[in-house]
Amino acid sequence: MTFSPRNLLGPCFLLATARLGVAQALPRTTAERTNYLATSTDADVGAFLDSLAQGGAPIAVSDMGTSTLGHPIFLVVASDPAITTPGEAAASGKLVVYIQANIHAGEVEGKEAVLALLREIAGPRRALLQRLVVLVAPNYNPDGNDAFGPQAVNRSEQNGPEQVGQRADGMNLDLNRDYFKVEAPETRGSLAQVVTRWDPALMMDLHTTDGTRHGYLLTYAPPLDPIGPVGPTSYVRDQVLPALRKTLQERYHEPIFDYGNVDDPLAPKSWDTYAPVGWYGINYMGLRGRMAILSEAYSHADFKTRVQVTHDFVAEVLDYAALHADDIRRIERDADRQTTLEGAGQVPRPSLAVAYKLGTRGIEPVTLEVMKPNSDTSKNAPPLATGTLRAYQLPVNDRFVDSVTRTLPAGYFLPAASLDVVALLRRHGVAVERLESAWTDTVETLETSELAWAPREFQGHHLLAVSGTAVRSVRTATAGAYFVSTAQPLGRLVFALLEPEGYGLARWGMFDRLIGAEFGAYSGLVYGSVPAREFPVWRALRAPRVPTRLLH
Ligand SMILES: [Zn+2]
Repeated sequence: MTFSPRNLLGPCFLLATARLGVAQALPRTTAERTNYLATSTDADVGAFLDSLAQGGAPIAVSDMGTSTLGHPIFLVVASDPAITTPGEAAASGKLVVYIQANIHAGEVEGKEAVLALLREIAGPRRALLQRLVVLVAPNYNPDGNDAFGPQAVNRSEQNGPEQVGQRADGMNLDLNRDYFKVEAPETRGSLAQVVTRWDPALMMDLHTTDGTRHGYLLTYAPPLDPIGPVGPTSYVRDQVLPALRKTLQERYHEPIFDYGNVDDPLAPKSWDTYAPVGWYGINYMGLRGRMAILSEAYSHADFKTRVQVTHDFVAEVLDYAALHADDIRRIERDADRQTTLEGAGQVPRPSLAVAYKLGTRGIEPVTLEVMKPNSDTSKNAPPLATGTLRAYQLPVNDRFVDSVTRTLPAGYFLPAASLDVVALLRRHGVAVERLESAWTDTVETLETSELAWAPREFQGHHLLAVSGTAVRSVRTATAGAYFVSTAQPLGRLVFALLEPEGYGLARWGMFDRLIGAEFGAYSGLVYGSVPAREFPVWRALRAPRVPTRLLH
């Protein structure tokens, strides 16, 4: 241990020493120490954070839970002066932002970039903390991170480092498909300790692309689920991201663009973004009416370049958020208010998606690597890269629009037996009421015409597609049944989770037991076809007028 004068001298000197220490003694990341040949283990991350804290960095290191294999899931709160609770953050008027790295633990540059940024926040970037409280999960998937293996195996389309972790977490789950069903300790921890607790105004999720060859060092995306409140998402998509693209080009000469893949590498006809559903973290935050940005460093760029561009992108997002904190807060408050009014029927109820199609912002030049056919045609070999970049005029399909919609109801009735669904809704921070006495009213029920379970498992589930006809029926919700109002800031998330025909909890089989049917029971038949029946979730035309008790 090095001797520190901090304990002997007064506070003024302490501050100066701490800042001096930043330049002289604060730690280097594993990537930096190895000249970008290696990435940090979970223990390296812990040691780096300890060392930062000991060197006087304005950070508090805790964890948001424990992974399946027993690692702490680090959560760093950077604030100056120190803020330890969301209440203090609100009172300070500062904007809370959340940066999450390494959710897919082979995609490691975010982890190295945010550690370097935390060190800079202790030094030259400390002014950010005048406007922001910065929460960082530098190694969100610690079990996956430490499952080191050859990059050629774990991340075949990635340019180093040599040893990287695996995509899945310690439960073998893809954490970026877990945001609705919330099965992993990482998701549970982040919802409890970050999302519902701190309610960050902006989230970033840091990834690496999966191989499409293009001409950008990093690609990005806003929330994509059109169910979410419009204001925050369109601000990110139409204001923040175009501004950042310009800044990264002008200030760093780093070309960045919207995330996408081509339909056909040999003859590209469109540039298409990824899936819209809220199972993905960024889309999930959009459903909550919050801003979020996906960052995908280019997998074919070398490791050092990927760390650098991810670092620069995150740093510029933080700068932007600090500069526009008031706008961001206003837009999100408006979204919360508007969503609540819609659910209460005080403004027209919107029609929201249960099915989606790609939408475009128009034709633009997209820089791609020219590909040529593989001369080895015998083995269905992939096209070959030529090393030549070319601008193609392509439709940039950067968003989704509704293809089938349902009107937002006043809420949903769930039977008294839906305890597990209710517990899950509470994890999401959704307000749920229990009826103290029976309530009879006209509701919308869904007469299912088909329940189709997918024959193949996805993330341990046979996904269920529900389709049917909505009918108005008089029904009695018994005492002990639940009412989930859409007249709350999370009203659109409620729709996304509970509308039976969409991609919500019904899709994940959360109502299979209540239907009295599940994949296994029907696997001997044509997959999934069961006789029409009434789905156990009813759409309310108005809130119940009997006493209810709000669950806490
Ligand atoms: Zn990823």
